[in-house]
Amino acid sequence: MLAAAAARRALASSCAPALRRVPLPNPSIATRLVSGHARPARASYSLAPLRTLSSALTAPRSAFTPLQARLFSTSRPLLASGSSGDSAPKQSRFWPRTRTFLRFTVYLCGSTIVGVAVLTSAIFVHDAFTYNERHVDGVPVSPLALHPERGGPKNLPVVHKLLSDIEDPENAALATKPHLVIVGGGWGAVGVLQNLRPGDYHVTVVSPETYTTFTPLLPSAAVGTVQIRSLVEPLRKIVARLRGHFLNAKAVDLVMSERLLEVETEGVNGPQRLYLPYDKLVIAVGSTSATHGVNGLEHCFQLKTTRDARLIRQRIIDNFEQASLPTTSPEERKRLLSFVVCGGGPTGVETAAEIYDLCQEDIMKYYPKICNGEVSIHVIQSREHILNTYSEAISRYAERKFLHDDIDLITSARVAEVHEDRVEYTKKGLDGKTERHAIPTNFVLWSTGIAMNPFAAQVTKYLPNQVHKKAIEVDAHLRVKGSPPGEVYAIGDASTIETSIVNHLLDLVDESDRNKDGKIDFDEWEIMVARIKQRIPMAETQLEKVRELFELYDSDADNSLSLNELAVLLKEIGSKITALPATAQVASQEGKYLGHKLHKLARQRETLAANELTGPGEDEAVAPPFRYRHLGSLAYIGNAAVFDLGKYSFMGGLAAMYAWRSVYWSEQVSMRTRALLMIDWIVRGVWGRDLSRL
Ligand SMILES: Cc1cc2nc3c(=O)[nH]c(=O)nc-3n(C[C@H](O)[C@H](O)[C@H](O)COP(=O)(O)OP(=O)(O)OC[C@H]3O[C@@H](n4cnc5c(N)ncnc54)[C@H](O)[C@@H]3O)c2cc1C
Repeated sequence: MLAAAAARRALASSCAPALRRVPLPNPSIATRLVSGHARPARASYSLAPLRTLSSALTAPRSAFTPLQARLFSTSRPLLASGSSGDSAPKQSRFWPRTRTFLRFTVYLCGSTIVGVAVLTSAIFVHDAFTYNERHVDGVPVSPLALHPERGGPKNLPVVHKLLSDIEDPENAALATKPHLVIVGGGWGAVGVLQNLRPGDYHVTVVSPETYTTFTPLLPSAAVGTVQIRSLVEPLRKIVARLRGHFLNAKAVDLVMSERLLEVETEGVNGPQRLYLPYDKLVIAVGSTSATHGVNGLEHCFQLKTTRDARLIRQRIIDNFEQASLPTTSPEERKRLLSFVVCGGGPTGVETAAEIYDLCQEDIMKYYPKICNGEVSIHVIQSREHILNTYSEAISRYAERKFLHDDIDLITSARVAEVHEDRVEYTKKGLDGKTERHAIPTNFVLWSTGIAMNPFAAQVTKYLPNQVHKKAIEVDAHLRVKGSPPGEVYAIGDASTIETSIVNHLLDLVDESDRNKDGKIDFDEWEIMVARIKQRIPMAETQLEKVRELFELYDSDADNSLSLNELAVLLKEIGSKITALPATAQVASQEGKYLGHKLHKLARQRETLAANELTGPGEDEAVAPPFRYRHLGSLAYIGNAAVFDLGKYSFMGGLAAMYAWRSVYWSEQVSMRTRALLMIDWIVRGVWGRDLSRL
């Protein structure tokens, strides 16, 4: 009994605070409840817990169930409100909420501190292991690599072995594989490298630049919207995946008969030439700028490399600094702040837009207002419209945007001559007569199309069937026409896929003329169409209406096509095929296709040899011809962008600009450049462009 009484007292004291917090119709109920004399009262509360409590108080200690024990130990109100419970005083909610808020604040601060501590420790650990003490004593180097023997038509050193060829067993094994030499380090070359697998070939990349450049953002880099370093990735890092080699040199000549590439390096004693042997050669040297025979281009900037972007940026800042001097005359200030872009294609338009952005967003804030008032941007375009390779709607949109931005568009005009202090151009006046105009300037960008790279031009000299003026002609398998089969390929701006079908006339007739009567009837024409599509897939759209074509060109209506009729037909179809444009998209797709095919050739090397399919026919045996898939063209036009997706066009302001940035961001070669680009865009957004002249 004594124990039960003590328990009752203890429970009563522990329950009292809880009960005090419960709003009761009659406060005395709590006292009565604890003393065991509670009676049902007119209350809207559920009394079940009270009964449980009451019986618990009167029960001996051992009779408590776990549920009862929990009931008693709770700090929550024991009486559940039959209504919404809104009658609880506001004060009772404030402290629990404050406690919850404080608790989560402590959690957040705690986890942040722990996170920062872990990250800092990780950086320390990483830095501690940055220096690997590599054991480099006694690394084997081939004597042939140290002292190459001389040979070839010019008796130059022949680099049969490279310095790292036998430095470890993996490299030694690779040195026995066929030698694949890739000339160039741009979009096409990187496409090939990304699609080869380690162990396929002994790979060597030859390029005068040690990095690959993301060219579409060069106009942004030229005004400091992004940093030049954010657009480049070292080629050595890219070839490392294949345990390949990089030779910092420029290809100058080719000896196809001996499979030797002549390269020029900048040695310690000046330029030095040597031969690099190959089994397979990929020419991906890009293009140079077209001059169109205009004099004075030495006074112009080009925008093809990172160096060009750096020089342009320096000149723009120089011009603004000189224009800000109190000693500069008004005429001179006007000339210094006049920017002329020759060419209304994507590069010219984007550069003009970027210069405009620079003036609007940064120059205006930091240079004397008079400078900003004097800035003029001029675009000289030979065609009627700018961005003339895009849809008409896009051209018009870009022109309206430039008109709004006060960018001077001079269309249907030709640059006649460039002087140190002015650009002269001709344009037909209202009376139809050609007039000559001059724009005083201290900045001219020349961006009027492409011309053949000197090395590509050198290669075509040896091949009589190469007649194209701007690029090396290749077949649908990207093999250089006229070169030994399966040995020399060309991709990207340096190449163009043949579109002439009539050159294949005799072969096509030979393959299709089943009854050998020298004429092609309709059944044979169907076979011929299939063969043409295999050789020149770009002709597919022209060959859709097979029956109509046959009837249209069967001029004597004898239900067959003679050689003459066929020649006319094939010539006309060929003239309607548009060559692929010189874009990064084409170069990259060609590179990926070729890399994939070279990988297949490497994997099936033995099978092909067993079936005597090496050399001629090996490409056809492992892969279909190259097919280009146009994914659309885009251009930046100053806080706005345009997308030409073939059937559809999309253009607009900031939303389109972010879409444009996203596309280029996703196209980056590495996560490193992605991170750098993202940082650049944020830095530009928050702090503006860097206006220092470096
Ligand atoms: C400013 C600018 C903006 C552009 N914007 C776009 C765009 O938005 N979208 C698009 O699709 N295309 C764009 N292009 C076009 C695109 O850059 C080219 O079509 C593409 O770079 C072609 O790739 P490629 O591999 O053939 O040549 P490149 O990328 O030009 O690479 C050529 C490589 O060959 C190397 N090389 C040159 N000569 C030799 C030699 N003798 N020996 C060894 N190596 C050599 C060069 O150093 C370079 O590494 C732009 C071009 C420029 C200049």
